[in-house]
Amino acid sequence: MKCAYHPIVDAVGACVNCGRLICAECKVMLGGKFYCNPCADKMFSGKAETATTIVENTSGQGSASVIPKEIKGWNWGAFLLNWILAIGNSVWIGLLSLVPYVGFVMAIVLGVKGNEWAWRYKRWDSIEHFKRTQRTWTWWGVGVLIFSLVIGVIVGIAVIATTERRWW
Ligand SMILES: [Zn+2]
Ligand SMILES: [Zn+2]
Repeated sequence: MKCAYHPIVDAVGACVNCGRLICAECKVMLGGKFYCNPCADKMFSGKAETATTIVENTSGQGSASVIPKEIKGWNWGAFLLNWILAIGNSVWIGLLSLVPYVGFVMAIVLGVKGNEWAWRYKRWDSIEHFKRTQRTWTWWGVGVLIFSLVIGVIVGIAVIATTERRWW
């Protein structure tokens, strides 16, 4: 792991603001947290308001990510589209949903934990960006669900129709 600003220097940590890997030279400590140089600059020069919104975005840092309360809750997209969403959000554990039986349990787990995992394992521009993307996934999930129900009904009717014809 190399520093984002010095590609040949080993990183010693990650900026809590932007998540970039930083080396000892780039590391700036503010209020007990490490920031990269550009972020530290931004926080000093920018308005306090902007700084807080940036600091809240801890997405993509794995277990170090703090889950904002705005994104907590049931994730319909993850529940309905589990494995597609897992790939889209780089939540690889979601691929377990392709395994029969395990898949159904996984779908529920993804519904519960989907938002949290997506936030932890992928870098998002902002909470708004995250919510917008998850909303799109939800619509896709509902769309796919309705589509498969319609196909199921059509196939069902077709099967009944052919069976009855054979009987008569
Ligand atoms: Zn930074
Ligand atoms: Zn550096």
